[in-house]
Amino acid sequence: MNLRNIAIIAHVDHGKTTLIDELLKASGMFRANQQTEERMMDSNDIERERGITILAKVTSLEHDGTRINIVDTPGHADFGGEVERILNMVDGVIVLVDAAEGPMPQTKFVVSKALNLGLRPIVAINKIDKPEQRADEVLDEVFDLFANLDADEHQLDFPVLYGSAKNGWMATDPDGPKDSLEPLFDMVIKHVPAPKVEEGEFRLLATTIQSDNFLGRILTGRIIAGEVTPNMAVKALSRDGSLIEQGRISKVLAFRGLERAAIEKGEAGDIVSIAGLQKATVADTICAPAVTEAIQAQPIDPPTLSMT
Ligand code: GDP
Repeated sequence: MNLRNIAIIAHVDHGKTTLIDELLKASGMFRANQQTEERMMDSNDIERERGITILAKVTSLEHDGTRINIVDTPGHADFGGEVERILNMVDGVIVLVDAAEGPMPQTKFVVSKALNLGLRPIVAINKIDKPEQRADEVLDEVFDLFANLDADEHQLDFPVLYGSAKNGWMATDPDGPKDSLEPLFDMVIKHVPAPKVEEGEFRLLATTIQSDNFLGRILTGRIIAGEVTPNMAVKALSRDGSLIEQGRISKVLAFRGLERAAIEKGEAGDIVSIAGLQKATVADTICAPAVTEAIQAQPIDPPTLSMT
């Protein structure tokens, strides 16, 4: 299946949740009775390991034969290394900005990480239904923000959407039809590259970790090479390539809508969760037994627990 892995970067209240819900609705994947509390997966099971807060929020939807995984990013700088690891799973970002408020200083950190990783943002100016919207100025502010963060020419030539997530539309022309999110889907499929897949046997870089009462330790990450199936023998390598453990995959889970479902095979490029290992953790490489080299993950910043 065609795949796209993206993240949405937005200041709190600029409409990320609303947009994701509308995208799910547009893909026929929204359950009307779904409670907000059930959304996403940062439930009580979140554990802290090595002082890193563990998050694995991926929403996955299908559009015209393309699976789009939308990875949630912490909105600000509290989770230094985490932001970087999460952005390493994606090939594009949507920077969602309130048309009245404009870009907020708190998103600067995440945007700068995305730009540094070479990701070319799609800018979506949201809430243009607001009477006090000032989309043109806000667009200039976003451009200035990127320029100040040393965006390259290609990144500064970003595609732009205007819209109202609340009303279920995004458009390339603010004076054009206001009836669907199709332009956003089109833009993601056109401007975000398909995930890079490497040759060789199964390798996944563990990006987040959670614990589940039934499944135990669940590691989530993007499959860099090969494929993974339940019962497969694997091992975990630390970043320096030393062996952490050998084990067997008990379950492979993929994201479907807001939930996770067991699957028979995880394919290269996709973001999946695996259960079955006991010691492996964030930034380890989970791989086929024959693999000898760990994936060179971004260095992890020292744990930051302050919530300033
Ligand atoms: P998040 O914090 O980024 O996830 O933001 P939410 O999706 O929770 O939205 C924050 C508030 O903005 C909610 O009250 C939404 O109903 C509202 N909102 C979201 N999108 C729009 C929009 O396009 N127009 C207007 N006027 N309000 C919106």
